[in-house]
Formats: sequence, C-alpha cells, structure tokens
Amino acid sequence: AKVLVSGANGYVAIWLVRDLLDHGYSVRGTVRGESKTTHLRNVFKTEVASGKLELAIVSDITAPGAFDEAVKGVDAIAHTASPFHYNADEPSEIIDPAVKGTVGILESAVKYAGPQLKRIAVTSSCAAILDPAVMGEVNENIWNNGSIAEVREKGRAADQTAKYCASKTLAEKAAWDFVDKHKSEISWDLTVLNPPFVFGPILHEVASPDALNSSVALFYEAILTKNKTPEELLAMQFGWVDVRDVARGHVLALESPRAGGERFVLCSGHFIWQDWFDAVNELNIPEVDAPIGTPGMGKDFKYAMHFDNTKARTVLKLNFRDKLETARDSVKDFRSRGW
Ligand code: NDP
Repeated sequence: AKVLVSGANGYVAIWLVRDLLDHGYSVRGTVRGESKTTHLRNVFKTEVASGKLELAIVSDITAPGAFDEAVKGVDAIAHTASPFHYNADEPSEIIDPAVKGTVGILESAVKYAGPQLKRIAVTSSCAAILDPAVMGEVNENIWNNGSIAEVREKGRAADQTAKYCASKTLAEKAAWDFVDKHKSEISWDLTVLNPPFVFGPILHEVASPDALNSSVALFYEAILTKNKTPEELLAMQFGWVDVRDVARGHVLALESPRAGGERFVLCSGHFIWQDWFDAVNELNIPEVDAPIGTPGMGKDFKYAMHFDNTKARTVLKLNFRDKLETARDSVKDFRSRGW
C-alpha cells in the first residue's frame, strides 16, 4: 500500500516515513522545495533507489489544488505539514497554512485520489484540546475554544501560544466539518492524532541547535543550555510523547478498523522539567551536565492538567516509551552531533 505524507522533511514526519517504510509501505512524501529532498534522499537511499519512497514538491500548501497531483493513487494519507512556531505577527500567518493546508489536501483527495483511498490521518495536537490559559482535563471529548476566542478578540496582540493553539483547533475542526459535508461522496474516513510536546531523537535535517524544531528546541534549551534558571524552567508543566511513538500512533491509526472517525490523545504522560533533569542525571552520561534543581520534586507535583491516553492504548494498542528511554536517546543523539 502507498501512503502520502505531507511535510515529509519535518521532525515528526520523517520518523513517520521511516516507520511506514520499515513496515513495508511505499511512501510518497511532499516537501516545499527541491532543496528539502536532499536530506531525505540521503537518509532513505535504498528506498529511494528501489522506488519505495517517492518525493514530490508542493510549493504552497495554501494554493487551491496544491495536492491534486500528490494524492493520485494513494491508499492512505497522513497530513502533518503545518506551521509550529511562536513568531506569528498576524494570526492568519499561522492559521491560513494550517487550515487551508488541511482542507486543501482533503479537497484534492475527494477529487483526484481515487476509490482505493481508505483513510486520511491528520496530525492535530493537544493544542486543539487544552486551553493553556485554563488547563484541566485532556481527553478526546474536549476542544480548545478558548484560544480561538482569544485570537478573535486580540488579533495580533494575542499570545503566541494562543495563535498556535488556534491554528491547530481551527484546522482540526475544519477537517471534521469537511468530512461531515462530503460523507456521501467519499470512500475514506478520517482519523486524527493529538500529541502534546513531542520529544526524542531527530532524524530530520538540523544544521545546529538554534535551527531545531520548536518542541525539541525547548527540550534542548532546558536540559543542555544554561539559558534559563531551574526556577524559570519549573514554571512550566505539560504532556509529552516520544516522536517514535507519534509515528507508530499514526501508522496504527491508519491501520486500525476502529480508528475511523476518531481522535486520539497520543500522550505518554505529564512532565515538569525536573523530571527530565532527574532522568538525564540518572543516566550519568559523561560530559552531560543537566541542571540539578530539586531532585524528586516531580513525584508528587500537583498538576493543573490531566492527560488521558486510555483510548490510544486500548484502541490503537500503542505502547508509550518512558522518560528514561527518551532522555537517553535524545541526549545521545545531541552528543553524536557534537552539540
Ligand atoms: P516541524 O517544524 O519539524 O515540521 C513542520 C512541517 O510542516 C515541515 O515539513 C514544514 O515544512 C511544514 N510546514 C510548516 N509551515 C508550512 C507552510 N506554511 N507551508 C507548507 N509547509 C509548512 O514540526 P513538527 O514535526 O513538530 O510538526 C509536525 C506536525 O505535528 C504539525 O502539524 C504540528 O502542529 C504537529 N504537532 C507537533 C508537536 C510537537 O511537539 N513537535 C506537538 C503536537 C502536534 P518546511 O520545513 O518547509 O518549513
């Protein structure tokens, strides 16, 4: 079977490409420009040579019909391409590519994919579930309407986190609405994955730590730089998941009969940075000097948010890596790059 992966050069997507190829799928990956294919061609030399991995250029995912060619003949689609940054000036800078990219790939699928297409997975986020200004429960029944309201009210002055969260919420809602409107004409169904912060080793092209994708940049800064004091770092709490489990979760969601029409919280657990300091210090990796903070303080930390990953564990049968494994593989990966 052949799977289309949009934004194949991204942090999450390249691990998804690897998981798919390792499990016998053929992949067509889209990237924004020819220069972004070089690294993928190097990482997947054998698969490119054998034709198991094809690369296609979609230069502007917001353009009407952008995915018309890319969707042709595929059995499944995983749409991961979407901006994840905290630098939007106008909210539309981040919301437009998120929403138009999502609706655009679904429109192209309806028109041009063909009847063999069975399922589309959209990479959403816990940002579409939890309003970080309010906190609370994180499960599949909840929507982050607060960030949308904040962005509507404040526009450019809205918080950067709210702008990103609104982009993910609006994109996911648009996907479900689209499927609902078109249900009589489609051969496929929709599944949605909602990860919190994704950590773990990198496989995509990153020249130096300051060019890291947003989530790993936070991890790297917290553990391996002294840019912030432990007190500043300990002001944050959230959920996390290993990037390899996010990839696996996407593949299981494409395969599992019961995943159609469902969203899934892909969360290993919650964290405060102290947990990661403790994990890295426990590993005792020579020359890795993580902050000490207050060891053990994560154990009975009172979280203002609660992540429920039952559905991913039971329906998808996804097993999540623990902090020690993710910490070890991340730090080793950074060190192997001389960072
Ligand atoms: P990356 O920044 O590593 O990858 C993002 C991908 O989307 C890249 O291929 C990028 O292309 C593409 N992209 C971004 N903006 C645009 C745009 N305007 N037009 C076309 N393509 C664009 O991020 P991640 O791998 O972390 O994110 C992948 C997906 O996972 C996103 O949907 C994100 O919202 C979601 N997610 C990520 C989490 C995380 O913690 N990492 C948590 C929850 C969800 P290019 O390289 O050309 O910019």
